[in-house]
Amino acid sequence: MNTLDVIGGKALEGLLPHAEEIDFLVNLPQERLPELCAWAQRIKEHSLGKTVGFCAIVNAKSGRCEQDCTFCAQAGRYRTGARTHAFIGREGIREAARHALDKGARRFAIVTSGMRPRPEEFAAIVASVAELRALDMLPGVSIGLLDQQELLRLQEAGLACLHHNLETSASFFPRICTTHAYAEDVRTVRDAVALGLNVCSGGIFGLGESWADRVDLALLLRELGVWSVPINFLVPIPGTPLGEQPLLAPEEALRIVAVYRFLLPDRHIRICGGRVQVFGQRRAELLMAGASGIMVGDLLTVHGGDAEEDRKDAERLGMRVE
Ligand code: SF4
Repeated sequence: MNTLDVIGGKALEGLLPHAEEIDFLVNLPQERLPELCAWAQRIKEHSLGKTVGFCAIVNAKSGRCEQDCTFCAQAGRYRTGARTHAFIGREGIREAARHALDKGARRFAIVTSGMRPRPEEFAAIVASVAELRALDMLPGVSIGLLDQQELLRLQEAGLACLHHNLETSASFFPRICTTHAYAEDVRTVRDAVALGLNVCSGGIFGLGESWADRVDLALLLRELGVWSVPINFLVPIPGTPLGEQPLLAPEEALRIVAVYRFLLPDRHIRICGGRVQVFGQRRAELLMAGASGIMVGDLLTVHGGDAEEDRKDAERLGMRVE
């Protein structure tokens, strides 16, 4: 039996790869990438079935963020020309949620720029969470750093998922953001997990991080006990410090997804930003590399593709859309 089969077989038994095995997966020659993806897919189907989850978001407050994340079109200090708008309120959220339901996404997150919503915005978001529940949707929020009291209010309103990305490893984070500490992000994730919330936390890839950074992030997410891991691929935005960074090659992006599946065998792995830009017509390949979900419709500041095409891809591959 070859080494990949040994590591894959162990993963099916719930055993995680050790450091040397992780190195092996990361450095597997390119011509064996299809084998790596096939194993990742087998592990995914073993733990999560032949399904793919669709989720959608609304950009409920866009831009003018005081933070300096080097990849982000919404950081107020960079001249990116990205659309900005004030908080859209409960009406705007309701309308976007109906639109998402029409596209087949019951899982729907309210996203706001900045590190914290204002008190009146937070109150409207809590009310919207309760409203979305009443529509039989699964509401999520991605609204920055939250304390335990705020998390509890959201939980009581019916929050299905708290989203808060760590973005990258602890050691690489100061290269992409200097305006807040990584520990603050980790604390929000830890507090939400401790409350019993489903937590969706992942990162963005293609920032110039190393494979060691990618692996460190996955291992931390596993230790934190997050339920779902969003994977974003950098779409370089002119005007940001990473505006000249090359797009990841599709093969590199596939390897990230597949290796993450080995490291997080029973967690949801959702492909979000950059999917269309990195993969173009090849985007269905992601559904065969260990991913268990995709974000459909438009994303925060970039186009997210046609949800109907995504549905057809999933059905053609024999997957049930959830
Ligand atoms: S990633 Fe979030 S916190 Fe960072 S600049 Fe963008 S909106 Fe602000």
